[in-house]
Amino acid sequence: MIKSKLVDLNQKDKSPKIIAVSKTFKINHILPLIEYGHLDYGENKVQEALEKWEDIKSKNDKINLHLIGKLQTNKVKFAVKIFDFIHSLDNEKLAKKIAEEQVKQQKRPKIFIQINVGLESQKSGIHKKNLLEFYNFSVNLGLDVIGLMCIPPFGEDSSTFFSQMHDLNKLINLKELSMGMSADYLKALEYKSTYLRIGSNIFGQRS
Ligand SMILES: *Cc1c(COP(=O)(O)O)cnc(C)c1O
Repeated sequence: MIKSKLVDLNQKDKSPKIIAVSKTFKINHILPLIEYGHLDYGENKVQEALEKWEDIKSKNDKINLHLIGKLQTNKVKFAVKIFDFIHSLDNEKLAKKIAEEQVKQQKRPKIFIQINVGLESQKSGIHKKNLLEFYNFSVNLGLDVIGLMCIPPFGEDSSTFFSQMHDLNKLINLKELSMGMSADYLKALEYKSTYLRIGSNIFGQRS
């Protein structure tokens, strides 16, 4: 009896989470999903997240808010306050600032290291060759790094990149993978994504 229960729990643990990416949408558009009971939401701007979510989160402490966009060091204070997950850690200055702030606020967000998996000059994320060093650096600062995140190059087959991410994650023994959006989430599942970030498929086209 007990054993089969444990197995069930493990299975449940393994099913991927869906982050409903609510950026740009007004809270009225998001409320039906909140009332339905969905708990994970993604925003890409700190200011917008504060305005939209502070009130709702104070009434529903089960909601997890995920920062999926770039984080500037001067906004870390507010980001640590409102976000439970940060998916875009990609430099040492930012890591230090988050480490400082989590001590001050006594709140430890879960962190993903963003990988610039397509080596695009305009994109955020670290080069994969620096991963091990940067991971150790961040963990030594006290950050709760739980996995890796990527945004594959637009217009290319994501599978190649998801496959690389899967291998990188294994290399440093991390459990979580934040990858897959509306257009490629099924491919992300093939490579064991654990956090799908889905916007337009849930809320409709953004203007
Ligand atoms: C906007 C955004 C998403 C969601 O994109 P959709 O194509 O609407 O699903 C996912 N991840 C990041 C980093 C985003 O900025």
